[in-house]
Amino acid sequence: MWSRKRLDIGWKDLLAGVFHVCFPPVPASVCRRVEALWPAAEQTLACLSVRSGLDLLLGALVLPRGSEVLVSAITIPDVIRIVEHHGLVPAPVDLAPEATAPSIDQWRRAINPATKAILVAHLFGGRVDMEPILDLAQRHGLLVFEDCAQAFAGTTYQGHPRADASMFSFGVIKSSTALGGAVLRVRDESVLERMRQRQTTYPLQSRWRYLQRLIKYAGMKLLACRPICGAFAHACRAIGFDYDRWVNRAARGFPGDALLTQIRRQPSAPLLAVLERRLRNYNVRRWQRHTEKGRTLANLLKKSVSCPGADTVPHTYWVFPVVVDAPKCLMEHLVRAGFDATQGQSLCVVPPPGDRPSSRAVVAEQLLANIIFLPFYPELTATESKRIAEIVLAGTNHKQPA
Ligand SMILES: *Cc1c(COP(=O)(O)O)cnc(C)c1O
Repeated sequence: MWSRKRLDIGWKDLLAGVFHVCFPPVPASVCRRVEALWPAAEQTLACLSVRSGLDLLLGALVLPRGSEVLVSAITIPDVIRIVEHHGLVPAPVDLAPEATAPSIDQWRRAINPATKAILVAHLFGGRVDMEPILDLAQRHGLLVFEDCAQAFAGTTYQGHPRADASMFSFGVIKSSTALGGAVLRVRDESVLERMRQRQTTYPLQSRWRYLQRLIKYAGMKLLACRPICGAFAHACRAIGFDYDRWVNRAARGFPGDALLTQIRRQPSAPLLAVLERRLRNYNVRRWQRHTEKGRTLANLLKKSVSCPGADTVPHTYWVFPVVVDAPKCLMEHLVRAGFDATQGQSLCVVPPPGDRPSSRAVVAEQLLANIIFLPFYPELTATESKRIAEIVLAGTNHKQPA
């Protein structure tokens, strides 16, 4: 069985992590080394997570209460909670059809006198063109934040120099993961300085906690190996255990309610050391090959199946979603053929502000309701990728009423 997801971290990285837990580097120096890997170190801050960084950013900006932040309609629930926690109103801007981001007209139409900022998410590995959004924001005097959590691509993109903030995540399910960690690029150095000051008041993530993560995700990496993944998935189905929910929960960074206390921590020195190692060893070729595979898959599928954002350029195809009429049915076909697909329970549609129920993001709702993430990662061979395409095409033709 090809598992739904492979953690993008090698055994050697995990071992290096254990080494750094036992012999931790000096926190301030390893932090500076990570920040120096971005174009302007004085505009860069390493954090425990993107959520930690976003919380610091909004805390440092102190926008007037009730200000609106336009958010591309699909993101993770915690991002919305953090925006709200700072007294701001997240307002969804629906996605353009077949796309993974709003069109420039959709952004423009959503602006109103309460709008203070725009939060763009680059979803699924594709990167939306920031230029028109930055121009629009400039005309209206809005801040622009870009959520690059799903779009890390090494040094080929480290945030738009005109964006007010660009956020990169190295959380568990992200590419080049360090099992946590994030890097924020913030244009206004005084804002960044306030964020840095605030972060130094946070408790430090314990390195033993980080060791626990290394062990836990080494276990999950084992479960994702082909022979083990199949046996595990079958065993779960036999006892009626909801493996999908469990994997998604296990792959999420901060479970449960205590979000703010969990994110308001400084990253531990071993975490930063692993992050530095991951950033330095980023394998451009590996992701280029994967991108080619993604384009080929998109070309095979897109005439018959909706592949949201598959034409976005540039794209790493960090994940490969398809949108079909009968997702459950296609998932069964895929499992029978040895591909464990998932419906991706970690994303959500941003709900409309309470006083404007009519501004629901209908396209995004439709998309998430019928989305399937194919197992698609650099380890999947080109041959297997073609086989997935055949099953998806056959599976979607099967969907006539029985
Ligand atoms: C993963 C993710 C985040 C959160 O990243 P963390 O570093 O885990 O906080 C934010 N936005 C999107 C779109 C994500 O996929």
